Amino acid sequence: MTMQERRKLVSELKQQGKSNTEIARILCITRKQVEYALETKDYRPKTKICEECGEEFIPKRSKRKICYKEECYIKRHRRQVREYQQRQAKSPYGRIRPYTYTSNLLIADDIKKGRSIKWMARMYDRDPDDLKKHIDKIKNDGTLEKILRRIYK
Ligand SMILES: [Zn+2]
Repeated sequence: MTMQERRKLVSELKQQGKSNTEIARILCITRKQVEYALETKDYRPKTKICEECGEEFIPKRSKRKICYKEECYIKRHRRQVREYQQRQAKSPYGRIRPYTYTSNLLIADDIKKGRSIKWMARMYDRDPDDLKKHIDKIKNDGTLEKILRRIYK
């Protein structure tokens, strides 16, 4: 039995919940040898495939996804910038933007207090037409009613 085979068997038995004494008995080795097998890690370096160039490399940190070549670092960085810009372009966070539960909560409170759409649009820096459309929607689908019931019960 090679050292590597022994390490493999010992760690398998350990994972099954066996004690060092039991492992020693099963494998006909001493407890010292079991302990030694558990201590010595497999020192063969683990390689990864670089996500940019596809070449094998040895990561210094486990989370590393690209190799240590300058060009791969630059490529990755460019890609991240490009992806960020594409995401930004798809969702322009201007005066028309998604409504969250919190925005609905504030709107419900404003409606209860009789504030106008114009007032709310200015307050939350939203497009008045888009806001009106949204208020109609949450009035019709019962969302507004539900929120009002929750906050003014
Ligand atoms: Zn690379």
